[in-house]
Amino acid sequence: MSVLVVGSVAYDSVVTPAGSRDETLGGSATFFSVSSSYFTPVSVVAVIGDDFQPEHVELLKAHSVDTSGLDRKPGKTFRWSGIYSAEDVNARQTLDTQLNVFADFSPTLSAEQRRTPFLFLANIDPELQLDVLDQMDNKPKLVGLDTMNFWIQRKNSGLRSVLKRVDALFIDEGEARDLASEVNLVRCARHISSLGPKTVVIKRGEHGVLLFHGDSMFASPALPLESVVDPTGAGDAFAGGFMGYLAATGDLSPEGLRRATVLGSVMGSFAVESFSLDRISSLSGAEIEARFRAIIDLTRYTPLEASESLPLRDGR
Ligand code: AMP
Repeated sequence: MSVLVVGSVAYDSVVTPAGSRDETLGGSATFFSVSSSYFTPVSVVAVIGDDFQPEHVELLKAHSVDTSGLDRKPGKTFRWSGIYSAEDVNARQTLDTQLNVFADFSPTLSAEQRRTPFLFLANIDPELQLDVLDQMDNKPKLVGLDTMNFWIQRKNSGLRSVLKRVDALFIDEGEARDLASEVNLVRCARHISSLGPKTVVIKRGEHGVLLFHGDSMFASPALPLESVVDPTGAGDAFAGGFMGYLAATGDLSPEGLRRATVLGSVMGSFAVESFSLDRISSLSGAEIEARFRAIIDLTRYTPLEASESLPLRDGR
């Protein structure tokens, strides 16, 4: 089954402890599309400026992404720039955001896009996310949504309206705390779930991901990497792997959601290994599968047999 993503396509300028890059391809919809394209057909809806380079449209096409929803408008493509601290690579500071053509973004879905069974509303204004949902012919099998502090603080009521209609929320731990006004992540997830999404994925950077679904909880570690070059796009690559797996298999069971979470972590781990999409856009299926298999070794241990007990000292 196919996935539709609505979000940003951008030129990013980033400074990380590993170096810097100027005006490199980025954007939430870009990372998501390329990540999910390894598993399922993807269609992207976004706005680009007249400076958007043909080779970047070609990169998406080379991944069989349907780019007919890339709306080219006069003006400059959205620009974002950020810096990551050497002490804590999870801590990112936005230096500059230039909306450019994104300021008047008004997503319009084609008849085919309105019927897509899996929809990812990447991090954009909640009012636009609502508008996209309203354009869908039927309720999709699964609607995923990403957001950020900016919208939590400035468009809180719009965000709450869209959350009522969303199945899965992907959110950073700091943002989850902000949204729920609560420090404890288990209580955060319960609170967020009461706002609408029955599946809540809390992303914790290099500390991995927590999946909350109904009463069940699952933790996926992040693959420990020797070299983290640029964390930009890891969250969208995660969501791409997660939703790509669900769309490819149609398996929305609790077990399917767990596998999707691990695959999301795998795709996030590739995204951070290079600037821009250099690494995630040049993967082989064998590399993805090898990492998916390797992650299990991080948490595997011999469970207690029913006949066994822990070596507790007498009387404990
Ligand atoms: P992530 O690291 O997964 O949270 O996503 C990073 C991407 O989000 C970057 O490539 C940026 O171009 C894009 N981005 C940053 N700020 C915004 C914003 N306000 N709206 C839409 N996209 C953004």
